[in-house]
Amino acid sequence: MTQKVIVVGAGPVGSLAALYAAVRGFEVEVYELRADLRDPSTKPLNFSNSINLALSERGIHSLRQSGLPDLADAVLAETFPMHGRMIHVRKNGEYVRQPQKYDARGRSLLAMDRTGLNSTLLDYLEAMPNVKLVFNHKLVGVDFQKKVSWFEHRTKSIEEQGDEFEISFDFMIGADGAHSAVRYHLMKFVPMSFQQEYIDKLWCQFHVPPAPNGDFRIPPNYLHIWPQDESMFIALPNIDKTFTSTLFLTRSGFEQLDASGKVVEYFDQRFPGVVPDLITEDDLRKQYTANQHLPLISIKCTPYHYGDSGVILGDAAHAMVPFYGQGMNAGLEDVRVLFEFLDKYPTDRSKALDEYTMERTPDAQTINDLALGNYREMASDVKKPLYLLRKWIEEQ
Ligand code: FAD
Repeated sequence: MTQKVIVVGAGPVGSLAALYAAVRGFEVEVYELRADLRDPSTKPLNFSNSINLALSERGIHSLRQSGLPDLADAVLAETFPMHGRMIHVRKNGEYVRQPQKYDARGRSLLAMDRTGLNSTLLDYLEAMPNVKLVFNHKLVGVDFQKKVSWFEHRTKSIEEQGDEFEISFDFMIGADGAHSAVRYHLMKFVPMSFQQEYIDKLWCQFHVPPAPNGDFRIPPNYLHIWPQDESMFIALPNIDKTFTSTLFLTRSGFEQLDASGKVVEYFDQRFPGVVPDLITEDDLRKQYTANQHLPLISIKCTPYHYGDSGVILGDAAHAMVPFYGQGMNAGLEDVRVLFEFLDKYPTDRSKALDEYTMERTPDAQTINDLALGNYREMASDVKKPLYLLRKWIEEQ
């Protein structure tokens, strides 16, 4: 009999996992808390606007291995290449921009809109005959021994409680993000080690419009960084010639800015060339006030599974800070690695999941540590002469 796979969470990782399962002929049901994000009226959870991400080889390879020949190309068509970083600093009072190549062989990171990627994956899922996509449904309980789960239908908003109903499954994939309900219920069935940390940095996003002539305001093929040690401002290009920018700053730094209202002065002092070349003073003030100042969480846990009945992937298993640009990429890689093990042991899912947890835990935790360490590289080390010399030697 065809096995029923329930995927919880239709973010990038859950959507790709559902596609991998559907390609293998499972009966797939995807349950997502929010409304369909392809509907323009749906507001992304946690994010005031969609975030702009760096897609790297780790993620692209997982898209290519999905078994859907044109999926990766459909995603890549919506990306913008970043060949290196552009560092913006003041040296001896002068504003200078320093380009630093990412790769001596010319490979690039790709900037892309998270909602765009997610929408493409959902379009592919919708076209599969063995996939049922269910939005506005919140997972509220799981019994991994009996393989039964409970969902609430959120009819009006994600906060408002609706009718609860029971759904059985053969295999559950939890890709429901950093505050995963699947992980919470999994912990009741397996002795899971769990560690979470909120780092002392908040982030606030800014939108940089195109220049009056319709072009990009600064050279587009770079990840732009204004490194200031305790704070950092970055800008990633979008295909519509805008940039999505993010300010990272300590909680107390944000509090001081909130209290003083001197956000323009702060930018003038720290981030040369931003005001008014990228954002007007007025717009900076408005966006700083209107856009949320959000926390950054880092999570490690293990094991990721229980018996043959459930596994967690993506941020649910290893949410990481964004400084290495690998959170989603690592989640997409989870999907590829998981299905490699499931394919290796087609009649013994328990063994496949054991091996998955064993192989994936150290890898995911290492990426998590690298992400924590990379704040220093981006916000401080990139300015140092020795760092620049090492980069120059690597490129020769
Ligand atoms: P999510 O994207 O969080 O999706 C989880 C889904 O589950 C959501 O749709 C949610 O509504 C749903 N859900 C939650 N609870 C329930 C429930 N109880 N029932 C049903 N559904 C539920 N990563 C990169 O690779 N590159 C980058 O450059 C990058 N930059 C980033 C910049 C910032 C500022 C931030 C904050 C993150 C960045 N990341 C980056 C990380 C990336 O956004 C995440 O790793 C990625 O979104 C994780 O995907 P996911 O599908 O695992 O989880």
